[in-house]
Amino acid sequence: LVVIEQVEKHFGDLHVLNDINTVVNRGEVVVVIGPSGSGKSTLCRAINRLETIDSGTISIDGAHLPEEGAALAKLRADVGMVFQSFNLFAHKTVLENVTIAPIRVKKMARKAADELAMKLLERVGVANQASKMPAQLSGGQQQRVAIARSLAMNPKLILLDEPTSALDPEMINEVLDVMIGLAKDGMTMIVVTHEMGFARKAADRVLFMADGKIVEEATPAEFFDNPQSDRAKDFLSKIL
Ligand code: ATP
Ligand code: MG
Repeated sequence: LVVIEQVEKHFGDLHVLNDINTVVNRGEVVVVIGPSGSGKSTLCRAINRLETIDSGTISIDGAHLPEEGAALAKLRADVGMVFQSFNLFAHKTVLENVTIAPIRVKKMARKAADELAMKLLERVGVANQASKMPAQLSGGQQQRVAIARSLAMNPKLILLDEPTSALDPEMINEVLDVMIGLAKDGMTMIVVTHEMGFARKAADRVLFMADGKIVEEATPAEFFDNPQSDRAKDFLSKIL
């Protein structure tokens, strides 16, 4: 579904993506881990074109990433993105947060959009919060709304960049459980996270990044139980 070939990206002198090559198949869950500054967020942002790349190619479902215009809007609809900081529209209700893109981008009728949104809010366990404003929800509830919002566009792929890092510990699991549910339902996901329990349970593959490179690519069991590189061993000794 996603093919990344020889991708290079610099920020000035900083080589932030260095010869990135990988393939994510339909239905796969890929967890990206690595030290701060290793390029994980930049890679995610490059995949839905929030960030340009210097060279190489990224294609989604056989199509190269478009530069601009209608094709880019279509790509953004196909690739959902969930951030650490929820990014809900503060002045809109929970329901409106989920319906806004289907109505505006897909021209869905309000009634159909409302029905879809309620179904998705149900799926992430916050249907009873639909008429509230985001600020009235806990962080875990807000993040689940953000996941419902990205699902509303029926994406082919969802990118989640540290979706639980801003949450209080007791709320992390409710979000991870939703993500595990999506994985079981066959959603293709690229997840930047340091939640090793999630990685072990849900990931098909772990990509370990350091200094802009993919240093290891392995199953969770292989990676966590038998890391090959000193970088990975060192990293794991700090977080486990
Ligand atoms: P973290 O775990 O802290 O989120 P990360 O692996 O997601 O880190 P990135 O956010 O991809 O890392 O950043 C990689 C490097 O690129 C960092 O050194 C960062 O400071 C730098 N960087 C990121 N965005 C920009 C930018 N817009 N301009 C200049 N440098 C940037
Ligand atoms: Mg990051």
